[in-house]
Amino acid sequence: MLHPNSSDGTAAISSPSPLRREAASGGGGLVIEARGISKRYGSGKGLRQVLDDVTFSVARGEFLAIVGPSGCGKSTLLGISGCLDRDYRGALSLFGEPTRPLRDPQLAALRSRHIGFVFQAFHLLGHLSTRDNVLAPALFARRAPSREALHRRADTLLAEVGLAGRGDDGPAQLSGGERQRVAIARALLMQPELLLCDEPTGNLDEHTGQQITDLFCQLHAERGLTVVAVTHEAALANSASRVLQLRAGKLLTGDTPAAPEAA
Ligand code: ADP
Ligand code: MG
Repeated sequence: MLHPNSSDGTAAISSPSPLRREAASGGGGLVIEARGISKRYGSGKGLRQVLDDVTFSVARGEFLAIVGPSGCGKSTLLGISGCLDRDYRGALSLFGEPTRPLRDPQLAALRSRHIGFVFQAFHLLGHLSTRDNVLAPALFARRAPSREALHRRADTLLAEVGLAGRGDDGPAQLSGGERQRVAIARALLMQPELLLCDEPTGNLDEHTGQQITDLFCQLHAERGLTVVAVTHEAALANSASRVLQLRAGKLLTGDTPAAPEAA
């Protein structure tokens, strides 16, 4: 069953979220259940099988890394897992709900309320302040808290990702690592249960990438967020509680979720 959002967006990272309390009380369940996912691009002689019968699941509260060489299908798999791409064979359930019967507006609402996305290239809007970038997902939400509450939440999130007082700056005034912090705050605005991250440290130097990895670890440990990151960065993969290896569209290892962590 889908879980409604809490309207309280101002809790600090260090205070347990409603989600964390649910996990601690044995809420459990699978956040992602993907069975027999196959994906082809093109047709005829140009046909390419990019994913071949991929089956995996992610339990609530896991930090999963999906690793593999460039071109092996990581971004394709992440896009399908987040319902950004519906053109595939196989079955995908999110939060216990089969996604196939859902229409586009229902999927958009599910993504908006339950999933935060973080991408390699940050995708900030250059003409907006960092605060307005963080607030952008609320523009697409069917139901959102009041403007004042959202502003407070955005500033709290900016502080939580280490950018206190930078809400009025534009992206051009930020370093790469700071831009990714804004993107992470933006992903958290609607209080998702699941963060899907595509090479989130791929555009950052090693030191900055480690800081972003540490931030994901903190969000996972202290907020109880479920995190799925596709990456070829060893540091990020080593921080995950489980690693899946993708090679040429096939999973090589372990599709069984780890046992839930003690709260
Ligand atoms: P990764 O993220 O692991 O680098 P991708 O999932 O981006 O891999 O891509 C997997 C394969 O699918 C690559 O060979 C890529 O060229 C191909 N591909 C990705 N997107 C498209 C597309 N829209 N049309 C055709 N081929 C694509
Ligand atoms: Mg990719």
